[in-house]
Amino acid sequence: MKITIIAGARPNFIKIAPIINAIQKKQNEGLNISFRLVHTGQHYDKNLSDTFFEELNIPQPDVNLEVKSGSQAEQTAAIMVAFEKELIQNPTDLVLVVGDVNSTMACSIVAKKSHTKVAHVEAGIRSGDLTMPEEINRMLTDSITDYFFTTSTSASENLLKLGSDPQNVHFVGNVMIDTLYQNINRISAPDFWNDHQLHEKNYIILTLHRPANVDEVSSLIELLHGIDLLVNDKKIIFPIHPRTQAILKESKTDFKNIIFVSPQGYLNFMYLIKNSFAVITDSGGISEETTVLGIPCFTMRDNTERPETETIGSNTIVGTALENLKTVFGSFLQNGARKSGIPDLWDGKASERIISILLDKK
Ligand code: UDP
Repeated sequence: MKITIIAGARPNFIKIAPIINAIQKKQNEGLNISFRLVHTGQHYDKNLSDTFFEELNIPQPDVNLEVKSGSQAEQTAAIMVAFEKELIQNPTDLVLVVGDVNSTMACSIVAKKSHTKVAHVEAGIRSGDLTMPEEINRMLTDSITDYFFTTSTSASENLLKLGSDPQNVHFVGNVMIDTLYQNINRISAPDFWNDHQLHEKNYIILTLHRPANVDEVSSLIELLHGIDLLVNDKKIIFPIHPRTQAILKESKTDFKNIIFVSPQGYLNFMYLIKNSFAVITDSGGISEETTVLGIPCFTMRDNTERPETETIGSNTIVGTALENLKTVFGSFLQNGARKSGIPDLWDGKASERIISILLDKK
């Protein structure tokens, strides 16, 4: 069986690493399975791409489509044009896409129109928020996927409600968490750990890159000033996404507690999360990692496509208003974190399940 694996952006690299490990394990057992790795080039900064390949021992891509940045339509179209050529030159049995970025949707459409089967890892999750490009990518990808691999029973139920064939909807767990378990003993403190006198639980991690929070520079600065004064005795480490950096430019000087650092590699970032007091973020993936690491997470969004992180107790959906954050965080400081746990099948074995299922389908 030949699988073409698509990856384009930072969260994709973290998700494909354990899938490739699982394929290599089957190869070592003598099974007939091979893969071709296509990097679409959606993220191309060293900090968002190469570092993850190096740290997570992901093999060099067989091809890089080098689409780079553009508007939503430009980027999606560029990926489709380049991937169509790639697929004609290198036919495959199955195109495997992960997550919800433009590469996920663009390559699924190209594959399906070329009569190639599509497998979607992290299928079925929904926020219901069509103002987010990721939600549109999820909906379109799932509408043409052949084999669905889900992280939760509610994601599987979403797909069944939409009429997907139950035989092809597989609740397997979470590949992002496979990566976490595979690397937890390799995580390490970043260079600035001592410089900023960081130690366990004396800092908060902040990440923001979604349009609703960062696209309007004056509201972003107001939000950051509010977060800066949220807790007196905690530093706030803010690994700043290039998207947010481009909007903030030089406006980041006068904060009391916020320390701006570059986007972190996976091993340093997980160390920072694991030892933090709490996390404030608009990322979806980070709310899964904090759930497993038992770190309270406050999500600066109106909704989440990962409701299990909230129902299990580790993630709180705050909304995007500073006032809400002050209230919710104040209550956390007073009452402590909610009781939490780890969702079913988030056990580090999702990728192995996926590859075994795909081999059975052949
Ligand atoms: N991440 C990282 N370094 C950082 C910020 C994030 O390694 O400085 C990792 C982290 O594991 C997270 C993943 O990148 O789960 C995806 O984060 P991002 O916010 O880019 O994507 P989203 O989850 O919002 O799709």
